[in-house]
Amino acid sequence: MTSVPHVRFHDGHEIPQLGYGVFKVDDDVAADVTAQALEAGYRHVDTAKIYGNEEGVGRAIRASGLAREDLFVTTKLWNDAQGFDDAIAACEASLERLGLDYLDLYLVHWAVPAQGTYVEAWQALIELQKRGLVRSIGVSNYPLPELEEIIAATGVVPAIHQIELHPYFQQRELRAVHAQHGIATQSWGPLGQGKSDLLDNTVITDIAAAHGATAAQVVLAWHLAHGIVTIPKSVTPSRIVENLAAVELELTADEVAAIDTLDRPDGRGGADPATKTA
Ligand code: NAD
Repeated sequence: MTSVPHVRFHDGHEIPQLGYGVFKVDDDVAADVTAQALEAGYRHVDTAKIYGNEEGVGRAIRASGLAREDLFVTTKLWNDAQGFDDAIAACEASLERLGLDYLDLYLVHWAVPAQGTYVEAWQALIELQKRGLVRSIGVSNYPLPELEEIIAATGVVPAIHQIELHPYFQQRELRAVHAQHGIATQSWGPLGQGKSDLLDNTVITDIAAAHGATAAQVVLAWHLAHGIVTIPKSVTPSRIVENLAAVELELTADEVAAIDTLDRPDGRGGADPATKTA
């Protein structure tokens, strides 16, 4: 079985560095593909209330027969429930749908600065952790000012920040701030969400050829080499296996440096957290 490295949070808990993401996967399909991922050796699953597939993920977890302590399950608070009481209720509802009595990680999905409730949402997550419903708490898609603000307002530093990050959009400024605070960095869209020519870029494909690896494995190995926690998604059985096997690919320092040069000012593929409104 593939051995996946772990990253240690400042709160003492550990997260498998490579997990399985289920964005845009229907609930029925999620049960099947998550089962395949667990069978392949993934032990970390990343879902969200808004994905509408927490029940399917929960069915796969129960069917796997794996011990709860051997799994790492993340879900996320959606933007319409950032008020304190709503957030507590939303977490309880997610646990119910997943069929779990605790989460390993709960994230505020987007700051949505214009809503003005991102501090309150963070206070709710702090309370959920105190109540034992959630082991670790973090955020996702927080612009730098809002990230600094929740820390200043509560004195509680997120364990992890999940952000869009891939070789075309490397988020160096946020990663430097994470390092200062001891926040783990987690990349969503690690393969560029299949939207750009990232996997055809010759810097990547040349490195892949040198290792007898695939372009996707090279990109994932680059994330891992930087200490980033990553959660690639695929519903294709062979790619589910292929992506996990990236943990066995070790890039040279020169190869990592070559991929580092691919960062682009316009490399963002998803919504900008600073201007997202709902
Ligand atoms: P991704 O970068 O993981 O890309 C997935 C796509 O890449 C697949 O649909 C497929 O087209 C392609 N792909 C996957 N494996 C491949 C392979 N081996 N070879 C060639 N192509 C391959 O994008 P994503 O799914 O958006 O991000 C991963 C996970 O991050 C999601 O499933 C979700 O869990 C999480 N996520 C979080 C947020 C957030 O706002 N916090 C946003 C998007 C995604």
